[in-house]
Amino acid sequence: MTQQTAPPLSTGAEIKKIGFISLGCPKALVDSERILTQLRAEGYSVTSSYEDADTVIVNTCGFITPAVEESLNAIGEALDATGRVIVTGCLGERPETILARHPKVAAITGSEAVDDVMAAVHRLLPPDLNPFTALIPGQTSNMVPGQVKLTPRHYAYLKVAEGCNHKCSFCIIPKLRGLQVSRDAGAVLYEAYRLIAGGTREVMIISQDTSAYGVDIRHRESEFQERQIPAHLTDLARELGSLGVWVRMHYVYPYPHVDKVVELMAQGKILPYLDVPLQHASPRILKLMRRPGAGRQLDTIRRWRAICPELTIRSTFIVGFPGETESEFQELLDFLEAAQLDRVGAFTYSDVPEADANDLPGAVPEEVKQERLARFMEVSQRISTARLAQKVGRTVQVIIDEYNDDVEDTLAGTRLIGRTAGDAPGIDGQVYLYAAGFAGTIKIGDRVQAIIEDSDEYDLFGEVVALDPWQTSVPQLGHFGGH
Ligand code: SF4
Repeated sequence: MTQQTAPPLSTGAEIKKIGFISLGCPKALVDSERILTQLRAEGYSVTSSYEDADTVIVNTCGFITPAVEESLNAIGEALDATGRVIVTGCLGERPETILARHPKVAAITGSEAVDDVMAAVHRLLPPDLNPFTALIPGQTSNMVPGQVKLTPRHYAYLKVAEGCNHKCSFCIIPKLRGLQVSRDAGAVLYEAYRLIAGGTREVMIISQDTSAYGVDIRHRESEFQERQIPAHLTDLARELGSLGVWVRMHYVYPYPHVDKVVELMAQGKILPYLDVPLQHASPRILKLMRRPGAGRQLDTIRRWRAICPELTIRSTFIVGFPGETESEFQELLDFLEAAQLDRVGAFTYSDVPEADANDLPGAVPEEVKQERLARFMEVSQRISTARLAQKVGRTVQVIIDEYNDDVEDTLAGTRLIGRTAGDAPGIDGQVYLYAAGFAGTIKIGDRVQAIIEDSDEYDLFGEVVALDPWQTSVPQLGHFGGH
């Protein structure tokens, strides 16, 4: 699905510069990384400023109305600045929406469409095929250069499946991305292996419905290091857990076999962390939402915590779903109190074009949605504060994400920011650390032991007491310089 208008800009041998805007969720981020990897392989340069760019690629999100607006605005800005824009990603599956606002975009592709994006790039900015000036000889599509990552070197998202077999009434992802297509376990594991060899120390498993990983390919086996591994979440988690890095599970629905994954957490094989999007607690609302794995949520959470008391549970919820009554909203608050979820995010419901939930009666007025969101956040903050306070006085493992340059200190490099096993990057809390006795010895991506001295609603504060070196089972690549 490509729409074509603009002619090629040039055919010379100069380095072509491409601007890149990546919007949306971690799944979209992985697509962006694939496109950027291919761009770099073919010798294009990626620039962060519109002024320098010959063409801009916008990887869009089409999940909820504000995301659609953000995507359309980003396309508009890029068009104003360069006049040449390639649109890809979720919103690209609905070209009519894009063309209605921006008829002059140069090309539109859907998500997971690296080849289509590259075809559009080649048309607008023909690659340098001169063997004397090309950055990489050959320009063939099967070259596998060092992978471009948008995340820092020490953590990475690993997509295990694309698409979704559910029909949640508020969501159009299955319409945009199609039914679930899982990757073979061997392919996922070799990708993890390469990432770890290159310095990744935390792997975050993502897909639309991670619990359903492998169902579509009947859990078929594939080769990893001369063994046959089934495409099943439990097997994948066990194998990843043997590589010696942090493994974090996202978008896990509460299916029965998740108990086995939680057992691996209790054994210390993978992080005791589950990102479980529950969306609501009222059985009637969950039914209207057509949520997978809904029902008996509290029992499930209690069972998981009995198996693994260290478990951190993150979840997301929608407030103000059509027809949500005050008592059903109260049911949600009661559930929060009872479940004591560690981390929660919440959105107010908004119509998504083409979503079935738009036709449900009983739209909740905006001011009621906002008032419920505020009450929800008040309860969740109180719970988060209390749960983090329980960590004060304990010694925990922390992965170091960055140096804390906001704090002036006489000893450079002694203020650090990291995360515990209970904190996913970007969405959960952080740990602010003082490392007085370790000046200059701790690097980004290192793991340390820290004693927690204080806490607030979302974050922890403490002091490094020891280094805790990684012991991966993957041979490390040498340092090649460059990227
Ligand atoms: S599980 Fe539901 S919300 Fe998630 S992608 Fe599938 S249909 Fe959408």
